[in-house]
Amino acid sequence: MSNEQLPVLVAGAGPVGCFIAYRLGKAGIPVHLFEKEAALPYSPRAVGYYGATQIMFQECGLYDLVRSEGFVTAGLCWRGPPIDDGQGGKRLGDMIAAQPLCDPSDPVKDCPSGLLNLRQSELTKLILHEALKTGKVTIQFNSEVASIEEGENSIKISFENQELAPVSGCYLVGADGGKSKTRKLIGTPCLGHTWPERLVSTDVILGNYVDPVFHTCYIIGTENFTIMTPLTEPIVGEKSLWRCTVAVPPEDQRSDEELVQNAVIQGFYEQVISGPRPLQAEISARAVYRIHQRIVPTMRKSRCVLAGDAAHLNNPYGAMGLNTGLLDGDALAEALVMILNEGRSDELLTIYSDSRVQVFKNFVDPTTTANKLRLHLPSETAAQDDYYLRSLNNATQETLESRARPYFETWRTDMRALAKETGL
Ligand SMILES: Cc1cc2nc3c(=O)[nH]c(=O)nc-3n(C[C@H](O)[C@H](O)[C@H](O)COP(=O)(O)OP(=O)(O)OC[C@H]3O[C@@H](n4cnc5c(N)ncnc54)[C@H](O)[C@@H]3O)c2cc1C
Repeated sequence: MSNEQLPVLVAGAGPVGCFIAYRLGKAGIPVHLFEKEAALPYSPRAVGYYGATQIMFQECGLYDLVRSEGFVTAGLCWRGPPIDDGQGGKRLGDMIAAQPLCDPSDPVKDCPSGLLNLRQSELTKLILHEALKTGKVTIQFNSEVASIEEGENSIKISFENQELAPVSGCYLVGADGGKSKTRKLIGTPCLGHTWPERLVSTDVILGNYVDPVFHTCYIIGTENFTIMTPLTEPIVGEKSLWRCTVAVPPEDQRSDEELVQNAVIQGFYEQVISGPRPLQAEISARAVYRIHQRIVPTMRKSRCVLAGDAAHLNNPYGAMGLNTGLLDGDALAEALVMILNEGRSDELLTIYSDSRVQVFKNFVDPTTTANKLRLHLPSETAAQDDYYLRSLNNATQETLESRARPYFETWRTDMRALAKETGL
């Protein structure tokens, strides 16, 4: 069988694995997707997509679908903790700074403006559905990739469940998340550090009492610094689903199991959620996470290529992990299309790896590190002391544009331009 006829194997049906399968399937390339769980898993994680990702969705035919399932908000802001409202309740903490991602009064907020919101679990379902519709993609659940064996022109994977037959493909994409087995199998370390805090992330139904303009909000000035972000469109006077992600300092020795008890979560909510008391908060999902700044030295070893959290991890402040993974997926899919459909050199996979490693090291890693450290500042002095918050508060249109530029110009990898530059 010739190399071109073998499918691309993808380990992990998370958002990145499904997205790569979709892109390849649309280009007529057969893909076998393998997921260790029995169904697509739910976890309270990503929700917001920036301009570069929106443009990428638009180019590959997904923007309208994501937009119709999701909603757009105007940007992000930083606030102090909620303040007593004098009537037994709490009002929103004072605004420290805001980062508009579009004109908040623009009713349309068309691509690529604002923050496009759709829960990662819903996005994954949507993309998988579109991938399967190409007729080129198959998915096999309950299939945990356990080993790989490289041939001259192919790669074979076997599964934890040895009753499952091994499968051969032309390339293996490791999109199997932060604890990636694929990464371990190819012997690549994931270098960097783990932050001392844990995060308690919850989905919670809350009443909307005011329009805060910038809905996604960091709450600083508390050791339980928090990010609040809407999961469904928040309408004043109605209830809607929010994500509340609270940091737990290293001194807090409670176990993960204790941290997700209702009473503990309600204790966090009392500090960081505004609104009348007693607080009406219905928790619908919860999880504890460790957070990291880590990356592999290379995302490519021979016929195996990594993408998304399998290759790099960053703390979630600034909502960059999945955006980066999807932009990896876009570049990797384009490289594979050039190799498999156009007969170009598979050195393009090394070019892909080099580019994405540099994007992470030079942009995603320092940006998310700064985002996280900023949340440790006292709320009273943050706006004066922190250059970034100060510059947002004194921003001209030019300042805002220059702040936004790397999010559009640095984050994405143009594989076709790199192929031309390198003569591949
Ligand atoms: C609290 C929190 C909030 C976040 N918010 C944002 C945000 O707003 N925006 C953003 O961009 N990012 C955010 N992130 C980061 C984002 O969630 C991750 O970057 C994203 O999940 C990465 O997707 P992935 O497909 O690479 O990996 P995953 O989502 O981890 O998917 C990996 C898949 O592989 C499967 N798998 C694992 N091992 C195997 C195996 N051996 N064989 C087969 N299958 C396997 C898993 O079951 C899973 O389905 C957040 C993260 C956290 C913790």
